[in-house]
Amino acid sequence: MMPNQSLSFEQGNPISYQDQNDFHHLPDKPEEACGVFGLYAPEEDVAKLTYFGLYALQHRGQESAGIATFEGDQVYCYKDMGLVSQVFNNDILRKLPGTLAVGHTRYSTTGSSLKVNAQPALAKTRLGTLALAHNGNLVNTVELRQELTKRGVNFNTTTDSEMIALAIASEVDSGKDWLKAAISAFELCTGAYSLVIGTPEGLMGVRDTNGIRPLVIGTLNEGTTRYVLASETCGLDIIGAEYLRDVEPGELVWITEDGLASFHWAQKPARKLCIFEMIYFARPDSLMHDETLYSYRLRLGEQLAVESYVEADLVMGVPDSGVPAAIGFSRKSGVPYGEGLIKNRYVGRTFIQPTQHMRESGIRMKLNTLKDVLTGKRVIIVDDSIVRGTTSRKIVKALRDAGATEVHMRISSPPVTHPCFYGIDTDTQDQLIAATKSVKDIEKQIGVDSLAYLSWEGMLKVTGENPNSFCSACFTGDYPISIPEDVKRSKLILENAKI
Ligand code: SF4
Repeated sequence: MMPNQSLSFEQGNPISYQDQNDFHHLPDKPEEACGVFGLYAPEEDVAKLTYFGLYALQHRGQESAGIATFEGDQVYCYKDMGLVSQVFNNDILRKLPGTLAVGHTRYSTTGSSLKVNAQPALAKTRLGTLALAHNGNLVNTVELRQELTKRGVNFNTTTDSEMIALAIASEVDSGKDWLKAAISAFELCTGAYSLVIGTPEGLMGVRDTNGIRPLVIGTLNEGTTRYVLASETCGLDIIGAEYLRDVEPGELVWITEDGLASFHWAQKPARKLCIFEMIYFARPDSLMHDETLYSYRLRLGEQLAVESYVEADLVMGVPDSGVPAAIGFSRKSGVPYGEGLIKNRYVGRTFIQPTQHMRESGIRMKLNTLKDVLTGKRVIIVDDSIVRGTTSRKIVKALRDAGATEVHMRISSPPVTHPCFYGIDTDTQDQLIAATKSVKDIEKQIGVDSLAYLSWEGMLKVTGENPNSFCSACFTGDYPISIPEDVKRSKLILENAKI
């Protein structure tokens, strides 16, 4: 292979999920967009460590996975549709040698669910190939595409992530070095982006001006200058790396043989971490603001009990994400905690249609009830959020079928009334049950005796942080990064009249 040539070996044909039956594709929870991972560690098997990092970040995207490694100027990349454990095996990992690696797990929020859109995105430059892994969403893709087209750039995919990679490549090819090129490219990009970028010279970690999506730095092997980047700290823990700190909003870290250098490139950085990362998306064992999200979610439940106590015999969570808040609710209210729903932990995405009878029996593929626990009980069921309400209705019916005499639902976040434009798939506004219905109407629709949501103030208070340091736009419509009109129109269906 000549220097600067990149090797990309791929298998199988693109699978268009849109062509498949979508029974299991319509989410009743917001879906996380992506997980990113990278490390610089010449003495280590970087592909294998990246594999395990991605394995820990699997919850952030289950459609495709990819790893790119760098050995000098040579880039090796493998990506395909599927879970991390389905995409990679030992033979493939052995063919990914190098000193640094970039990894990605994807759930599509822009661009179709096709193999060609899997990441890392590769772009060739005069300084060699770059490999980019992106979590988030740009909101100015139309403008950016026009700008890049003007520069003669050709696109291979429909993703905003490729646009960022090509913007950097275009700046490099105009004569800049990697750092200057990247910073110039970020100035063209508006929206949410946490990036891990591999180059033949070193590894970059970047967060957008508002730090909407998380990105953390860890050290591998104490006393060395080997660094790891990951969307969440659970991606560090799995490979034995120590959490060092977060990449700051508007910061670029540049990791090379000489260690880590930091550049604060944004003019007016602000802290606007997505609050939904803390409520639901990120793993409960991940650290944010120096504590596990499990602890934060316990406090959400305690606050929920303060705000919306109701007499009952049993409080339980919707597994798994509602469980910490249910335990917190129980501790604060004194209502005994118990389990009444058991989750099948081995259910993946399936495109095999359940039978009509199975559909009518509701949610049983994923959750089943404990009849002897529930019979004759007044139950409080705690969940982290309601999006469409379809799953909630099935859960309530299953609890009643199992003998619960009263079902009270408590939600450890406020009503989701607005869609996300920053990398989370929350449907269009008309699909969000709380955007069109009052709490009383939702109560009726999902069939509960009572329904209460956590207040917006309560949700922010228990962070223990400055309430202004979060994005909570899906609860308020107050978007921290302004959204171009054409992008707004695509999702804010109910508010189009006002736009
Ligand atoms: S709109 Fe909601 S889901 Fe999107 S970044 Fe803001 S808080 Fe997170």
